[in-house]
Amino acid sequence: MSTEHLDVVIVGAGLSGIGTACHLERDLPGTRYAVLEAREDLGGTWSLFRYPGIRSDSDMHTLGYRFRPWSSATALADGPSILEYVRDTAQEYGVEEKIRYGHRLTRASWDSDTQLWTLELPGQEPLTCSFLLMCSGYYRYDQGYTPDLPGLERFGGTVVHPQLWDPEMDYAGRRFVVIGSGATAVTLVPAMLEDSEDHGAAAHVTMLQRSPSYVLSIGRTDPVAEVLSRWLPRSVADPLTRTKNIAQIIALYQISQRFPRFVRGLLRKATQAALPEGYDVDTHFNPRYDPWDQRMCMVPDGDLFRAVRSGRADIVTDTIETFTEGGIRLASGQELEADVVVTATGLNLQMFGGAEVVVDGEPVHLPDTMAYKGMMLSGVPNLVYMIGYTNASWTLKVDLVAEYVVRLLRHLRDHGLGVAVPERDPDVEEAPFLDFGAGYVQRSIDELPKQGTRAPWRLAMNYAIDAVALRRSRVDDDTVRFVPARAGRVPEAERAAG
Ligand SMILES: Cc1cc2nc3c(=O)[nH]c(=O)nc-3n(C[C@H](O)[C@H](O)[C@H](O)COP(=O)(O)OP(=O)(O)OC[C@H]3O[C@@H](n4cnc5c(N)ncnc54)[C@H](O)[C@@H]3O)c2cc1C
Repeated sequence: MSTEHLDVVIVGAGLSGIGTACHLERDLPGTRYAVLEAREDLGGTWSLFRYPGIRSDSDMHTLGYRFRPWSSATALADGPSILEYVRDTAQEYGVEEKIRYGHRLTRASWDSDTQLWTLELPGQEPLTCSFLLMCSGYYRYDQGYTPDLPGLERFGGTVVHPQLWDPEMDYAGRRFVVIGSGATAVTLVPAMLEDSEDHGAAAHVTMLQRSPSYVLSIGRTDPVAEVLSRWLPRSVADPLTRTKNIAQIIALYQISQRFPRFVRGLLRKATQAALPEGYDVDTHFNPRYDPWDQRMCMVPDGDLFRAVRSGRADIVTDTIETFTEGGIRLASGQELEADVVVTATGLNLQMFGGAEVVVDGEPVHLPDTMAYKGMMLSGVPNLVYMIGYTNASWTLKVDLVAEYVVRLLRHLRDHGLGVAVPERDPDVEEAPFLDFGAGYVQRSIDELPKQGTRAPWRLAMNYAIDAVALRRSRVDDDTVRFVPARAGRVPEAERAAG
């Protein structure tokens, strides 16, 4: 039996994979492509995480796709609504029938002679494709990150990681300790105090953090979006809201980076005003790093602060000396009693969902590669990866990269080319792949590719600048080597699209 061949294979049916497939449907119709998804559902992050309160912590008008704007005034949406949005988008653009569930890519091997990727998919027939789009997210799905927790084996209660949440868990009357200070921890604390028929309300929740994060209260709904959508048609109001939010994100990030002390002061004042008089803001909400050196935690309508004010939640900043039978003893000597400990301690970063990438028989060692325009890797032909922004909504970058991919595929088609491979420039110095201080990034930075110190080996991480760079820059710059397509090997779909 001959191996099935596709023009393009997208790996991953999350926000990025579905969005990228829509770009192909819209702008390169006729492309023979499939979306390979390891799991049995689409949505990626938004179908995997089931912990209480799961929601976006960046606004939906920028986390939603540019080509299908989020059309609700709700700025921070819950996980199920985001999943529904991704599902509806896949349906509307005819992408749903292109998804092959239960297809986990474990090895992708490029062969320069045939100009083909061969994809190994355990339990399924292998496939070949001309172009590979890795929309596989950035972390391990099978396990979250749990640091070494001294004495954990002694603890008599339940321990759960938010990535492997038990939806049947009963909270009623139980005392929870949530270890962590990131977006997940600040989401969980108020959510577990809310009463519901399914799980009841926790008696008390303590957020135990080693060091604090910046926490900013923003409106659950966007008043400007509300006004615009009342007076203007959706087709005008939604893109306007999106543009306003992009400007807002860029301004907040740039001002934070340029005037960190000023922004730190403003955040401190806002936090102080949201908490009871005399609350120790300097211990619990004053991070060691400057604003936006790590992602800021957004809390809708100040729900975390409200939980603290209610007296049913508190925040403790300390280190764990040891777990005990009934809870946790801290370095300060304080004891926290707990029935359940939630380890909201983060993710394990992973590129390509752990799939091995091989070029002409040689395994690709990611740290030896350099990222080109934040989407291709030096020495790796016909492969684009989608990793979104860490300082703004993920999809802003993914949408830009998908537009670029369309331009690149058109260029290959129009010029009878079969291969595009960025070639590393020895004069460009190496820099870390992500300029981001978050623990999960720093833990794995040595296993990731590098970026360069200048364009096109780095992006600005600023949507306004990157949008110009990715939309206007030539796809045939001097950095990319193009190879004519082997005779008879111009992808049919790309011809069809012409
Ligand atoms: C809890 C949480 C909240 C977040 N909130 C925000 C937010 O508010 N704003 C923001 O901008 N970002 C947020 N992020 C980052 C978030 O992951 C992105 O916004 C976005 O959802 C990522 O989409 P993705 O499709 O790139 O990756 P994912 O959602 O991770 O999807 C990847 C898909 O690829 C599949 N896959 C992976 N490897 C393989 C393989 N080898 N073979 C086949 N299939 C494979 C996976 O099964 C999965 O379905 C959040 C992340 C987490 C964990």
